[in-house]
Amino acid sequence: MDKKLLTPGPLTTSSKTKEVMLHDWGSRDIVFTKLNKDIRQSLVELINGQNIFECVPMQGSGTFAVEAMIGSLTNSKSKILILINGAYGHRMKKICSYISRNNISYEVAEHEIHDCNKTQKIIDENKDLTHIFAVYCETTSGILNPIQAISDLAKKKGISLFIDAMSAFGALPLDINKTYFDAVAASSNKCLEGVPGVGFILVRKSVLKVSKNNSHSLSLDLYDQWKAMEANAQWRFTPPTHVLAAFNQALKEHSKEGGTKERFKRYKENCKIICEGMSSMGFKQLLPDKIQAPIIITFLQPDHPNFEFEKFYNSLSDKGFLIYPGKLTVANTFRIGCIGHLNKKDMHHAIDAVKKTLKELDIKLN
Ligand SMILES: *Cc1c(COP(=O)(O)O)cnc(C)c1O
Repeated sequence: MDKKLLTPGPLTTSSKTKEVMLHDWGSRDIVFTKLNKDIRQSLVELINGQNIFECVPMQGSGTFAVEAMIGSLTNSKSKILILINGAYGHRMKKICSYISRNNISYEVAEHEIHDCNKTQKIIDENKDLTHIFAVYCETTSGILNPIQAISDLAKKKGISLFIDAMSAFGALPLDINKTYFDAVAASSNKCLEGVPGVGFILVRKSVLKVSKNNSHSLSLDLYDQWKAMEANAQWRFTPPTHVLAAFNQALKEHSKEGGTKERFKRYKENCKIICEGMSSMGFKQLLPDKIQAPIIITFLQPDHPNFEFEKFYNSLSDKGFLIYPGKLTVANTFRIGCIGHLNKKDMHHAIDAVKKTLKELDIKLN
């Protein structure tokens, strides 16, 4: 049996999602082009963006989608404020510097959220700002950034908001009737529980339509990808057919489960079991519950002579669970994800595995 992935993606997928990949599709055949159309339509519907937003899928991991979004929907006249509190905010800044997009950033520590008053002050001091880039759930720590407040501010100031919702989309609420934004990037292999290989950008039609010739890259040109797909329902270049078939199945399962609302509930319950179980053993969470998204949880590595991350990891792996190393720059941590095709029973098993592991390593924390 496969090990359970307590990671932020790739993650554990359903049997059916894996099974549907046992076929070959002609990428220019109607069976596949219909499937592709269905995926794009369901993704737009997930944010209630019918008629206002377009979905443009992009081959590659999530970063390819983020880079396509930035490169295609901004240009040399843009000035971007990037809100950074972890690796993915930094990555957006790095993309901007690779492709020479004028930007400033407001960075806070990895366990803190941005002060909205300060963000407003930065906007007021930089009258030429055209865009704000924000990360919804910063997977580095698992922190939940206040996307609604950021959106309200951007809207008030008439600035275009782009969201990296990679590890949030499909589980944390995002509805254009409530949250104003111009573009959001996400991928198949996180809360939507597909397999890795494709990302997508949901973009306001009015923004996409005027984005011709912005892109620094042919492969990552959203406008070109969109125009081609609209013209003949096909991808410009080889699509990841099997990945898209799995994604289509995963989206059906998302809908069957009850959509974003029910997925949020399941992850929230998973998160609670992990947090309470770990806390009962004496592990300390990095973040207070209030700003902890039910996606991935960061724990501090305990200060115990017998605790070594590699041994801890290997012992959990022997018991069928793969956890994730920490990504913080400020402290030694590790992470446990609570997303994927996993339920409370799996979470209780994971906690049992951690208990056994502590016993084996002769670690007692409280
Ligand atoms: C996973 C993730 C990405 C994309 O990472 P890839 O490794 O390229 O898939 C971007 N932003 C956030 C917040 C993520 O969690």
